[in-house]
Amino acid sequence: MTVFVPFVDLSIQHQAIQSEIETTLLEVVRQGHFVLGEALTQFETDFALASGGTQGIGVGSGTDAIALGLQACGVGAGDEVLVPANTFIATLIGVLRAGAKPVLVDCCLDTALIDLTAAAQAVTSQTKAIVPVHLYGQMVSPTALQDFATAHNLLIFEDSAQAHLAQREGYTAGSVGIAAAYSFYPSKNLGSFGDGGMVVTQDEAIAQKIRCYRNYGAAQKYLHTEPGLNSRLDNLQAAILGVKLPHLKTWNQQRNEAAQIYAQALVPLQIRGIIPLTNESGSGHVYHLYVVRVDERSPLNRDQLRSKLSDRGIQTGIHYPIPCHLQPAYKFLNYEAGDFPNAEQLCQEILSLPMYPGLSSKKIQTVAATIEETI
Ligand SMILES: *Cc1c(COP(=O)(O)O)cnc(C)c1O
Repeated sequence: MTVFVPFVDLSIQHQAIQSEIETTLLEVVRQGHFVLGEALTQFETDFALASGGTQGIGVGSGTDAIALGLQACGVGAGDEVLVPANTFIATLIGVLRAGAKPVLVDCCLDTALIDLTAAAQAVTSQTKAIVPVHLYGQMVSPTALQDFATAHNLLIFEDSAQAHLAQREGYTAGSVGIAAAYSFYPSKNLGSFGDGGMVVTQDEAIAQKIRCYRNYGAAQKYLHTEPGLNSRLDNLQAAILGVKLPHLKTWNQQRNEAAQIYAQALVPLQIRGIIPLTNESGSGHVYHLYVVRVDERSPLNRDQLRSKLSDRGIQTGIHYPIPCHLQPAYKFLNYEAGDFPNAEQLCQEILSLPMYPGLSSKKIQTVAATIEETI
């Protein structure tokens, strides 16, 4: 008998709050404020506070949050920005759109997080900032980041798109550096019903700049003081996110608990090459994704295992199959295969198992048992 286990199932979290969301949406529709309305202002304040900031600026996407956020922090043409080679491509796009040069850095094999020792070797006199990515829901060590940034006189701009409310060493994601970018793409830990993003910061001047950029560069209506664009988080989306935010902590806890069940169930498979990535932050890891490595000890390689699991009704993902430096569009950055060995190895070995709030212990056991039977 095959049991279907989807990679993500958002319907579980939506069921519980469906009528509340519908009521809220109707309210916004009846008020008729769709752009830069009250629901947005309220959600900006609430989300910023939850993330350890004071200012939230809702924008059109996580990618825009990185681009506009960096720009507002004074990062642009002539500046180099350190970025992990194994991130979603949007991190790179954000840096390029700010006008700066991304300088890629390898990651640690066991966590897949940026390797700060490698980052130190990539620093030049042009380096202005580091964009640590709190990948898969785990923060890069805040104390290590701050020591690194202080030693090299760099800004920290966090890519928190996969780490809403993640914690480590007493810090919340978004409170480590000068500012942080979030995405509210539907499948993120906090997702809207479309695209959306936010910059969170404690710096009033930076917040003011982004509010100006996102709204055609207008300091007031029809007075354009900055070169801007149109990138705002919709009031409807903000209203939905406002309903979801109070549940986020519980959903994150459910993800963390599911990860613990996976970890237990997969212990016997370690000697056969199924290695969960290391959790260095305990209950603060919010497991946007649950990622294992399929290393050389496994009788099946990652792709073979993935295909067998798919045949048996278990959906998995690969985040991400090609590192940024080997993507065709970014040849002009002049990297080549072999430049970032850990990132490249992970691309061959990583497999993301089903993970979402409400994923039952039974389904997790099914996934683990199916892997065991398959390899
Ligand atoms: C999703 C994501 C982004 C981009 O967010 P969008 O809202 O899709 O533009 C940036 N960085 C990381 C690490 C992401 O996972």
